[in-house]
Amino acid sequence: MRRIGLIDGNDVPVLGQGTWMMGERRGERQAETNALIAGIDLGLTLIDTAEMYGDGAAEELVGEAIKGRRQEVFLVSKVLPNHASRTGTPAACEASLRRLGTDVIDLYLLHWRGSIPLAETVAAFEALKEAGKIRHWGVSNFDVADMEELLEIAPSGACTVNQVLYNPDYRGIEFDLLPWQAAQGIAVMAYSPLGQGGELLQAKPLIAIAARHDATPAQVVLAWALRHPALIAIPKASRKAHVEANARAAALQLTPEDLAAIDAAFPPPRRKRPLAMI
Ligand code: NDP
Repeated sequence: MRRIGLIDGNDVPVLGQGTWMMGERRGERQAETNALIAGIDLGLTLIDTAEMYGDGAAEELVGEAIKGRRQEVFLVSKVLPNHASRTGTPAACEASLRRLGTDVIDLYLLHWRGSIPLAETVAAFEALKEAGKIRHWGVSNFDVADMEELLEIAPSGACTVNQVLYNPDYRGIEFDLLPWQAAQGIAVMAYSPLGQGGELLQAKPLIAIAARHDATPAQVVLAWALRHPALIAIPKASRKAHVEANARAAALQLTPEDLAAIDAAFPPPRRKRPLAMI
C-alpha cells in the first residue's frame, strides 16, 4: 500500500478505513469487526472513528478489532465541537481512549467547528500531546478561511490533517482548499469517498471506466481520489468483500481518457463553492 508523509514526519497509508454506522447493530458486530481486521491485514491500517459514531459504539468496535495489534494501526478519532473546550477535550479524549482500549490516539481531530474558540481547542490539543495522550492533531470540515484562522493561532506544523468531504459529486475543494493545503503541507483526508455507496456508484460513465479496467465503480472513484499525491481516502466497508475490493483500488491507474470522462460527467469547480459537509 502506498504511503504518504504527514507534515510531522509520520507516514500513513493512502487508503484507510472509515467506521461511521459501525457498531450500532448487534447482529452485524462480528462481520464489521472481521471487515476491519481484514483491512488491517491488507494494509488499510489507518482507522478513522469518532466519539460521535454510535455514541461511542464505533470506538468500542475498533478497540475490539485492534486488540493485540495496536502497534500496526494508525488510530484517528474526533472530539465533538461542544466538547472541545480546555477541560472538555481531555475528558472526551480519556473516554475515547477507554473505549478504544489504548493509551494513545495517533491523530485527534476537531469534528467540525463549533462555538468554542479555536484557541481553547488548540491549547487542549497541545496539552494532550504534551501528556502523551495523542500523537498529532488536526481538524475536520474546515474551509480555507477557517484554516487560515487556525494557522494564526496554532504552533507551526502542528495541524497535520483536515478531513473533508470529497468524491466526484463534491469536488469544490479542488478550487481552493486542496491547493491551499498542498502549499501548507497539510494532508487532505477524504471522507465519504464512495458517496456513501449510493447513486454515485451507479453512474454510467463510472461503470464504463470500470469495465475497461476489469474493476468496479467503487474502485474507480477511490483511484480517482488517490490521484492527488497528498490525499488519504477513508472508505467505510462493513463487508469483507468490499474491504478487499477497496484495497485493490490503490493499484488501479486511471488513464487521461478516464479522467477526462469523469470531468465530463462530474465537472470540476470553476469558482469558489462553500465547503460541502455531511
Ligand atoms: P463511504 O463513501 O465510505 O461509503 C460507505 C458505503 O459504501 C457503505 O454502504 C459500504 O457498504 C459501501 N462500500 C464500501 N466499499 C464498497 C465497494 N468496494 N463497493 C461497493 N460499495 C462499497 O461513506 P462514509 O460516509 O461512511 O465515509 C467514510 C468514512 O469517513 C466514515 O465511515 C467516517 O469514518 C468518515 N466520515 C467523516 C465525516 C466527518 O464529518 N469528518 C463525515 C462522514 C464520514 P458496506 O458497509 O455494506 O460494506
